[in-house]
Amino acid sequence: SATPAPDPKIARRLQNVKNLIIVLSGKGGVGKSSVTSQLALSLASQSDPITGLRNKVGVLDVDLTGPSIPRMLGLDGQAVRQSSDGWVPVYADREQSLAVMSVGFLLRSKNDSVVWRGPKKNAMIKQFLGDVRWGPLDYLILDTPPGTSDEHISLLEYLHHFNPSAIMVTTPQALSLADNLRSLDFTKKVNLPLLGLVENMSGYVCPHCTECTNVWGKGGGEALAGREGLRFLGRIPIDPGLVRVLDDAKEEATKAVHEAKMGPMAPTFNDP
Ligand code: ADP
Repeated sequence: SATPAPDPKIARRLQNVKNLIIVLSGKGGVGKSSVTSQLALSLASQSDPITGLRNKVGVLDVDLTGPSIPRMLGLDGQAVRQSSDGWVPVYADREQSLAVMSVGFLLRSKNDSVVWRGPKKNAMIKQFLGDVRWGPLDYLILDTPPGTSDEHISLLEYLHHFNPSAIMVTTPQALSLADNLRSLDFTKKVNLPLLGLVENMSGYVCPHCTECTNVWGKGGGEALAGREGLRFLGRIPIDPGLVRVLDDAKEEATKAVHEAKMGPMAPTFNDP
């Protein structure tokens, strides 16, 4: 069947975005938003190997009912501005390498919640994609709700013209989870290329020693990747220090952790 033309407003905003990455997870609580925010910080701290220019990164938090990106990037209480050229995102750093848009910035208090019905979610996503003044970006990373929902369907409807790809976040128990298989199935149905899998909460970093103890096991995500013919991007251990910085994000602490944990992962996205 013929695909409709791209929305002109969205096309204008996305034509200067080099890489669109959608972050997925089969279920909630596996660390999808944590991985999104750490990945964004990591990419924004790196430079293009050829031009030497610092990467420009955007994060769009499409988790409308549970936006956690502002908190994890230490941006709680910030607000987006309206300009003559659309919404100005919130910048996480002075150099404006990391731009963030979230419904969390539109709520009056961080304890407000929003009850969204399908059509309203779709309208909000369309507005996020068409009205945010990102400027040219090397990466736009989209954090999505868990599973596959209205938001994913809306997103793909608007984005499929712009070559999006996805990464999936799983936990070591991934192998047996039907939720993961449903998410994988979704990516196949909508022809969304998967860059690979990240196994989060893989083993445990004991604060009292340097040994990594496998309390909750590890390797399930890697096994799932192998079985499904997907690239395994790496594992992130359970780290009490990471919880502290994510749940009470101070910019410096967050940066220190992302360098330690996610540094080696980001360059894999630059490989063809
Ligand atoms: P999701 O987006 O999948 O619902 P979150 O990113 O919100 O999951 O993470 C859920 C909780 O787990 C958060 O409190 C977060 O701080 C914590 N968390 C995520 N990844 C790790 C990790 N590697 N080690 C320790 N805690 C983590």
